[in-house]
Amino acid sequence: NWLDITRFDVTSVVRELSEVLGKTFQREIRVHSDTQTVSIKADKEKIRQLLLILIDNAIKYSKEPIDVRIRQQKNVIKLEVTDYGIGVPESEIPYMFERFYRVDEARHRSTGGSGLGLSIAKKIIDIHEGSVEVYSKSGNGTTISIQLPRKH
Ligand code: ATP
Repeated sequence: NWLDITRFDVTSVVRELSEVLGKTFQREIRVHSDTQTVSIKADKEKIRQLLLILIDNAIKYSKEPIDVRIRQQKNVIKLEVTDYGIGVPESEIPYMFERFYRVDEARHRSTGGSGLGLSIAKKIIDIHEGSVEVYSKSGNGTTISIQLPRKH
């Protein structure tokens, strides 16, 4: 099987990743969680990759601190990455997850990207039977909210 499902604490994955990325890129990444640990049954490496893509984008497209939230609900776990950066125009949101798609403003930035990150993120969400929502306003910032089934 392509998926390697184990039970793990998703808050420690978020904390470790936030610390490494925060140090590497000299950025404040704040982690918020209602509970100390949040157990999930999923592919740990793929969830790590998913979070890396979202936090990396938040770093690239903003300058302020970044907030990562973990919310444990009855049957789902919510992972939210919020930045206060350039945002995504409403008309572009439907295309963000397409392969090689890049919003115009981003294309003009010196620090490039391939436009593949979010298409990979979407694939990881889909194989976990999760869902994703985007809240963004041009110039104000972006929240990418992932919902994953807990499968307990
Ligand atoms: P890479 O593949 O290296 O991540 P990328 O960032 O261009 O490159 P995606 O991660 O797929 O590619 O994102 C697609 C596009 O969506 C980006 O080019 C950018 O225009 C927009 N985008 C993604 N995340 C954000 C964000 N947090 N704030 C503003 N725009 C974003």
